[in-house]
Amino acid sequence: MAGIYIHIPFCRKLCNYCDFYHVIADSDNNDFINALLKEAELRKNYLGKEPVTTIYFGGGTPSVLSVKEIGTILDHLKQLFVVEEKNEITVELNPDDVTTGYLYGLKDLNINRISLGIQTWIDRDLRKLNRRHSSEQAMVALGDALRAGFENVTIDLIYGIPGMNLGEWISNLEISFGFDIKHLSAYHLTIEKGTVFGKMKEKGLLEEVDEEESVSQFNTLIEKAEAAGFIQYEISNFGKPGFFSVHNINYWKQVNYLGLGPSAHSFNGYSRQWNVRDLKNYINHISKGKPFFEREELDLKTRFNEYIMTSLRTMWGIDLEYVEETFNKEGYDYVVNLSGKFKDYGLMKLDKKNLVLTNQGKMISDNIISEFIMPPDK
Ligand code: SF4
Repeated sequence: MAGIYIHIPFCRKLCNYCDFYHVIADSDNNDFINALLKEAELRKNYLGKEPVTTIYFGGGTPSVLSVKEIGTILDHLKQLFVVEEKNEITVELNPDDVTTGYLYGLKDLNINRISLGIQTWIDRDLRKLNRRHSSEQAMVALGDALRAGFENVTIDLIYGIPGMNLGEWISNLEISFGFDIKHLSAYHLTIEKGTVFGKMKEKGLLEEVDEEESVSQFNTLIEKAEAAGFIQYEISNFGKPGFFSVHNINYWKQVNYLGLGPSAHSFNGYSRQWNVRDLKNYINHISKGKPFFEREELDLKTRFNEYIMTSLRTMWGIDLEYVEETFNKEGYDYVVNLSGKFKDYGLMKLDKKNLVLTNQGKMISDNIISEFIMPPDK
């Protein structure tokens, strides 16, 4: 099985925290779509004959495209790849793009998973983040998506927003769980260099929330999500049973995937490649037959580090049998020896043959992961 990710790089407005590759949306998407269709043809053998079980339209803002444009891309992929009948096809939507006509259009295309970028239900914070929508628009969009019959709806929320207190975060969670959503992705705001927030921070105009507040918002997230019937299957991802994101799990479980579109990454077990992060160059290079991606062969150590970075964030943790099979006795001994002190501190535990983080360990997952990372060969 394999997955396909399609990066739609357009946004109507730029959010202050955003570090994804995006450009301001143009009214004419034709050149981009033609390049995307051509890229899919050029790379139709990338996944071999592996059946595709997940397709994910991310961005940017996929809902900048019309239903017809999404349908054209999907039809093309179905002609080029073996797409399993039992599949998960996700489209990310911005709440202000959602209309009932659009939702029914996506349903007709057999899109079966909708991801809504809600971020927060507080208008003050939506403005701070420079989101386009209001909380009222988000309420209507989410209600409409559920009424249109999408059973598998996920939303994104952001916590750790400067100025948002614990009570407000609790209210964000309660409003969210008041809807029949099946999945939630909740991320702590990170202030990246080069973003509007990054520049504000450099000038001393934005102060990040203190650690104590971050930790209590994270703890509350875990508690409230659990109480609402969600399972935390990855540090930032919570799903009702049967509704975990298959596409994301496949990334974390080292399943092969093909990424199409500017800045998209692909992985085939032994190499990783990434497309040029510039829309004009992407279109030009593809139309003129020039190289449009870079590639890195992954040595065993890099594969080990990637496995640790992704697996340790999930509820399945590090699979010791997989480590021994793939990274030999040396990799196995390294993991087992290093895990000893974390188990002693109550930060990790052995669950059958898997090493997983405890709730306490999840608080400092980045620190624990960095200790497991093997330094590069000199
Ligand atoms: S957060 Fe999403 S909608 Fe906002 S600028 Fe980034 S990609 Fe576009």
